Amino acid sequence: MTELDPAELAAARRLDDEDPIGWLRERFTVPDGLVYLDGNSLGALPRSTPDRIAEVVATEWGAGLVRSWNDAGWWSAAGRVAGSLAPLLGAAPDEVVVADSTSVNLFKLLVAGGRLRPERKVLLAERHAFPTDVYIARSAAELLGGRLRLIDSPDALGDALDDDVAVVALSHVDFRTGSSWDGARTTRRIQDAGALALWDLCHSTGAVDVALHEWGADLAVGCGYKYLNGGPGAPAYAYVARAHHDRLHTPLPGWHGHADPFAMSPEYLPMPGAGQLANGTPPIIALAALEEGVRTFDDVPLPELHAKAAALNALFERLVATHCPELELASPPQRGSQTCFRHPQAFGLVAALAERGVIGDFRAPDIARFGFAPAYLRYVDAVRAAAAVRAVLDSGAPGDHRFGERGTVT
Ligand SMILES: *Cc1c(COP(=O)(O)O)cnc(C)c1O
Repeated sequence: MTELDPAELAAARRLDDEDPIGWLRERFTVPDGLVYLDGNSLGALPRSTPDRIAEVVATEWGAGLVRSWNDAGWWSAAGRVAGSLAPLLGAAPDEVVVADSTSVNLFKLLVAGGRLRPERKVLLAERHAFPTDVYIARSAAELLGGRLRLIDSPDALGDALDDDVAVVALSHVDFRTGSSWDGARTTRRIQDAGALALWDLCHSTGAVDVALHEWGADLAVGCGYKYLNGGPGAPAYAYVARAHHDRLHTPLPGWHGHADPFAMSPEYLPMPGAGQLANGTPPIIALAALEEGVRTFDDVPLPELHAKAAALNALFERLVATHCPELELASPPQRGSQTCFRHPQAFGLVAALAERGVIGDFRAPDIARFGFAPAYLRYVDAVRAAAAVRAVLDSGAPGDHRFGERGTVT
């Protein structure tokens, strides 16, 4: 398959023609000829975003100035985005807040979660989670006067859950391999042990099914710039189940989370609901971009979106298994919308693919990661990517000395 396999390509074209959400790609700008398999690192640009940002800057800021807090709906922007995001999380609008980064939201929820279980002294997380999650959890545990317990694999969860555990923070989809927890079943196991379940949804929302109410989840966080297409450094979100609203006690009480911010009161009175997790003035320009990203999901049947994610990954997995047997599959069957392979020269492989217009990414030490954003990828993209993998392996390029130097961002 050094050339595109005509039969595979024709079959993929048929799938694209019949795709019930094929129209959704039109809402995005995807550079011509590029096969972009990194929407789980930075999502594509929605077509509506540049004009919207220009309007926010020139009209709302330039002409409206401070009046725009009221007149252009700046004050209510974060709440509006939370409201649009809630259905993608399977949550209610008053349980979602859009603010800060995932790291900061995780900090607030771990501390607030620990305060909801004051008699328990342990925060539990995965050792191989996205590193920021572990760093933040360690600091939150110290501040709570407790400690962090790390598990090395999903199998270790059962033994690690004792009556000292206050909060368990897990990535619903693992950033490296794509391995996914069963949200409902795992939440139940955690709660049966008396702890709170905190889900990191960075690699889930916008690609795979997230149903926080159905899972019975206590807390969750996630970011805006991956499958939500909010742009680099987009604001993140946090979720707090209604059952915890009355006792919620954020460690970062700011005036944007105050029940009556313009009373300018010296006393902090939390806003009802998850809203108290807002703290400082939000980045309005970035928030406008996130709003366009979240709006790309308007009218999208989510079951079709999630089914397409699974189908794209299954197709890519099958093509690579057939045509590139030297790559070792690193993703389990139950996974998010990414398919990863181990290869001793994974870094060179990813770099050589990028030169051919197929963008994936490398995750140390030896993983080539390919994310499939179901909103804008086509089945032909999976075929083109697999053909490019074969061609790159045949060329010997992954071992090329040119790829000995890594950029700062991999
Ligand atoms: C992307 C990602 C983050 C990023 O956190 P930031 O605060 O936005 O830098 C955190 N956790 C996980 C699991 C991620 O995938």
